[in-house]
Amino acid sequence: MPRLRPVLFSALVLPAASLVQAQSPLQHWTDAIELRYALSQPVLTYSLQVDSADLSGYTVELRIRNAPDTVRLAMVAHPEYDDRYWRYVEGLEASGPRGAVAARVDSALWRVVAPGGQSTVRYRIHLPPPGTPPRAAWRPFLSPAGGMVGGAHSFMYVVGATLAPAHVILDLPAGWAIATGLPPTPDPSTFFAPSAFVLTDSPILVGRLRSWSYREDGVPHRVAYWMGPDAVPFDTAALVDGLARLTHEAVGLFGRPPYADYTFQLQDLAFGALEHLNSVSLGVPSDRLARDPTGFFAEAAHEYVHTWNLMRLRPAEAGDVDYRPPPRSRGLWWSEGITMYYADLLLRRAGLPTFEPTRVAHLESLIARYLASPGHSRFSPESVSVVTYGSLPGALGDYSASVHLMGELVGTLIDFQVRYQTDGHRTLDDVVRVLLARYSGRRGFTTTGVERAVGEVCACRAGTRRFFDRYVRHANPLDFDRYLALAGLRANVTWARAVDDAGHPVPDLRVFAWDPSDGPPSLLINHPAGVWGKAGLHTGDRILSVNGVRPADASGFREIRNQLAVGDTVRMELTHGARARTIRFVMAGYDRPVVRIEEATGAGERERRVREGWVRGEGR
Ligand SMILES: [Zn+2]
Repeated sequence: MPRLRPVLFSALVLPAASLVQAQSPLQHWTDAIELRYALSQPVLTYSLQVDSADLSGYTVELRIRNAPDTVRLAMVAHPEYDDRYWRYVEGLEASGPRGAVAARVDSALWRVVAPGGQSTVRYRIHLPPPGTPPRAAWRPFLSPAGGMVGGAHSFMYVVGATLAPAHVILDLPAGWAIATGLPPTPDPSTFFAPSAFVLTDSPILVGRLRSWSYREDGVPHRVAYWMGPDAVPFDTAALVDGLARLTHEAVGLFGRPPYADYTFQLQDLAFGALEHLNSVSLGVPSDRLARDPTGFFAEAAHEYVHTWNLMRLRPAEAGDVDYRPPPRSRGLWWSEGITMYYADLLLRRAGLPTFEPTRVAHLESLIARYLASPGHSRFSPESVSVVTYGSLPGALGDYSASVHLMGELVGTLIDFQVRYQTDGHRTLDDVVRVLLARYSGRRGFTTTGVERAVGEVCACRAGTRRFFDRYVRHANPLDFDRYLALAGLRANVTWARAVDDAGHPVPDLRVFAWDPSDGPPSLLINHPAGVWGKAGLHTGDRILSVNGVRPADASGFREIRNQLAVGDTVRMELTHGARARTIRFVMAGYDRPVVRIEEATGAGERERRVREGWVRGEGR
């Protein structure tokens, strides 16, 4: 609505200077001093020692001074990956000049009584035996050539004193380098942590590291790569150049780096990744980097965007460190979905490789995945958000849904609306910056906050309210054509038999299993109208046997499943609670959606401008 645009400009542009001051997290110049004279806070020094003669774990020593006689120490429950490393704490004991006693009071909680409030607590993290490689990149490990230590898997915090600063001293084998987001000190083996959050959110990559650096906006960035013993050579210059270009585009989008420095902690022989305040732990095997870095850049872009969109712009429910299970967040559709959206877009802006050649092809693939799983229209993005972190598999019954995918598509449709309503003058980029300015401090965001920001940026509050009610708060199938039409596009959807490269129908293997803490593997149905669902199988059924073969665990079930061919008779013995059942069915193929986005007939000039701006990924 062009007549509203002057209002929009005055709301967004005129108060920019005052906004900059108003949004500063610091209220007063004394807030910017890192340590303050506060006798109410304990004085904490952590020492972490790795002994090259025994790499089965490492020792942590915590010196506490100026504390109450009784303190409680706890290990953090991470909202996303709670690995419960309290299970691997060994031999915790306390000593002090006037005596000290330590006792475990709960799984992740210890009590230390030390008259005078001075004690030294020692414990060892005995690392669990390494599973089959690759290893998860966010968990600690040790090898003769280095490893990863520190973070939430290693350091206990003092309950009730999470704002107490601490120093961290590392005692490592000779020649090991250190790469961490923790602020350095003049002593190369001593680091500083201004709070328990920073302490436990800053894992430490150590060992024989390859290391590179670059600056963006004057801010130092470091790329450290821990290479395994048989690392395959790859183009390291292209890797670092790619990350530097990604950084440049992200800083351009969000306006500035939100950190003093940033460290990419890359690890050979590992998979997966976890975002942190000013670092990322990212597993990327060197042979994969040598073969094709596309997947690496996709993952790096996702985690790096989280630096702003999750670690700074946090869901309202997110809080300080805690040993208790964190509250569920309704906003993960935004935190994960918009992160997906910008990971893809920033790679394109940076000229880095992507899986799909164009934004249109990328959107076609997203819509096809959305339509392929009925859970996406049966549950709202908010309700899927609530079960995304910290739930056991199967929380959606006989359905599954990806909050990453749902959020990315919702974000895409919001972008079309913003572009259309403002005739291309505003985009989702503006919405993200408004949210960061408004909610990246103490207050986290809610869906209502996002809705308000979108409504302000597009000056279309009523339409935005309807959109959020219908597609974010409640479960409704996304009406792609209605919003694609704003860019003069439409989605042509056909359903075709799923076939292999030779054109033969493939069996419906869309069924999964996981291993609960006891008993046989537990089934996950995600498509009630698929072959498995129609046969009467349900999520939560325990698998006793398939065609007479008893799977040892979920991966054993996967192996049996993968042998099945169209036309096979499948006989499954199952239990569900006390009820035992035998189910027989014949394996069949299935249909999957094919999506082609085309130009709609009769679209006007305005729609063409929206389309061209979006296709080129313009914004900022
Ligand atoms: Zn993520």
